[in-house]
Amino acid sequence: MSRPPETVSDLVARARGGEPRAVARLVSMVEDRSPQLPEAMAALAPHAGRAHLVGITGPPGVGKSTTTNALVAELRRTGRRVGVLAVDPSSPYSGGALLGDRVRMQEHTTDPGVYIRSVAARGHLGGLSWTTPQAIRVLDAAGFDVIIIETVGVGQSEVEIASLADTTLVLMAPGMGDGIQAAKAGILEIGDVYVVNKADREGAQQARRELRSMIAMAERPEDDWQPPVVLTVASTGEGIDGVVDEIERHRLWLEETGGISASRTRRARDEIEAIAVAELRARWESMSGHTDLDALAAAVAAGESDPYAAAATLLGPA
Ligand code: GDP
Repeated sequence: MSRPPETVSDLVARARGGEPRAVARLVSMVEDRSPQLPEAMAALAPHAGRAHLVGITGPPGVGKSTTTNALVAELRRTGRRVGVLAVDPSSPYSGGALLGDRVRMQEHTTDPGVYIRSVAARGHLGGLSWTTPQAIRVLDAAGFDVIIIETVGVGQSEVEIASLADTTLVLMAPGMGDGIQAAKAGILEIGDVYVVNKADREGAQQARRELRSMIAMAERPEDDWQPPVVLTVASTGEGIDGVVDEIERHRLWLEETGGISASRTRRARDEIEAIAVAELRARWESMSGHTDLDALAAAVAAGESDPYAAAATLLGPA
């Protein structure tokens, strides 16, 4: 016997009731760019806007997954519902494929207060900026208090994660050539909380000192947020309570200074832009014949047209 099709409003109601399967279905709709997505977002939007979004970034192997796992445990201890989105901007796999490998997370899989999901954020245009905010909205509307956004895989995703999150955690480890790497990646501008993980290894104190002096050199205005540097051993959970305290302190600071609404507005702005650009692209891809992008490109390359004229053709009448 086949079941009646799930309506969007059913799904949203069940997701809000905390049903993991409904949350999963909605995130899949985001990944698959379901035609029902606009309807789903309209139904979810009034219920979103409560969650605190925490981004985690740092070089591969620094301990992001281990830290996420430890943070989930600590946040649960303090009674908060936690959603985790492991975003892989380069992955062609969606849904559970990646999650299967993430054995460290398995201790939380039977806890209804935790929802962990990997998101394939690939896509030709602004993959991360298009998919991830909508996946976040699903979890937010489903009532998770904290949503951790962790990047997996390598890529240019650090800055994008920071633009999505209210609070960005930047992880470092002793002896990874932190200083140079930090300067290169512009990582010193994006962190709200710096974590020197693997503090059980030699050089942790030195790494903290170096980070502190580099942060001080950035000379943020006095009334601005001054990012703390916390030492952790994520694999044992040592210091993780301190990270949670700093995340909370940053959230309060954002609330007091109006930063939280600024962060949400910025995120919405990026999202609107990404949707509009994707829509434009879809429009010109559905056009036929002479407005085809490849044909226009060939004409420009051959000197038969110029890029402004070609772009005007692509956009159609203003
Ligand atoms: P990711 O690539 O940034 O997500 O890093 P992982 O969380 O996968 O960790 C990479 C490796 O470092 C794993 O073998 C972890 O067990 C190990 N690791 C994580 N945190 C610590 C720590 O605090 N101390 C030590 N010694 N090892 C750690």
